[in-house]
Amino acid sequence: ALPAILHWALYRKAASPSLSTFVLLGPSGAGKTAFLTLRSKAAPITHTSQASTSTTVTLPPSVPIFSNRYRSVNDSSLSDSKRNPVQYILKDTPGHGKLRSAQISQLQTDLSSKKEASPTRGIVFFVDAASLSEEAESLRDSASYLYDVLLVLQKVVLNKGKSSSKAGTTVPLLVASNKQDLFTALPPGSVRQKLESEIDRIRKTRQKGLMDASAGSELNEDEDEILGGDDGRESFSFQALEDDIGIKVEVIGGFTKAEDGDADGGAGVRKWEEWIGKRL
Ligand code: GDP
Repeated sequence: ALPAILHWALYRKAASPSLSTFVLLGPSGAGKTAFLTLRSKAAPITHTSQASTSTTVTLPPSVPIFSNRYRSVNDSSLSDSKRNPVQYILKDTPGHGKLRSAQISQLQTDLSSKKEASPTRGIVFFVDAASLSEEAESLRDSASYLYDVLLVLQKVVLNKGKSSSKAGTTVPLLVASNKQDLFTALPPGSVRQKLESEIDRIRKTRQKGLMDASAGSELNEDEDEILGGDDGRESFSFQALEDDIGIKVEVIGGFTKAEDGDADGGAGVRKWEEWIGKRL
């Protein structure tokens, strides 16, 4: 006979053929694996960081989900523990610099395909808020990776807009400003500002590179720059990116470390899970 847990796992898989997927991106050391491990039933994985791994995780029943939004908060017919636990897939990706271009093109493929088995509902981009405050290199690294991810989202929106009459849609992105338990960590508002001004700087550098490269030749249309407060007048902002092309970016602080007296070890990730729950 099958061990009960295996039986359960197989049954669950058959019963829910298409779980939503959330992709974890961000530089190595930001805390992606720590977040994944917190909610996965499997033993902590020693991550070899070469390929992506998809893990089914459970959203704590106390976190509201979009599909339950019409249920009144006063409805006591279902207590937290009786509700069906909602599962979703977290796709952890290696954040090492050399492997990023592979993550970026995989993301573009996934988002462009219409029949994804487990549709991507969002991107959770991890940054280490403590190292952002201490190391200029960490900010440059995080921002340039984020820039590339936003560029993919932008391409998906603009391409979809072309192929159908409807405006393109894209997945939202959460910047998980991690390690807020450390007193050296930058608060989420500053993380947001720093990322915006660094992205602005990267954009200007790349613009200049493009103009130099295209001197005397046609401008290569593929080499788009990121939108959001463009025209060289405005500086880049996530708000402008949303206003211009509808890509929604939120920066929310948290930490994956469990604190004393925190039974499910989830106090620090609660707001991120709420963000995910809104999209389930
Ligand atoms: P990944 O490379 O993005 O998967 O990062 P990991 O999950 O492996 O985390 C890198 C290091 O940061 C590990 O030593 C973790 O223990 C530590 N870490 C992760 N999250 C937190 C956090 O919220 N607070 C603190 N203080 N350390 C963390």
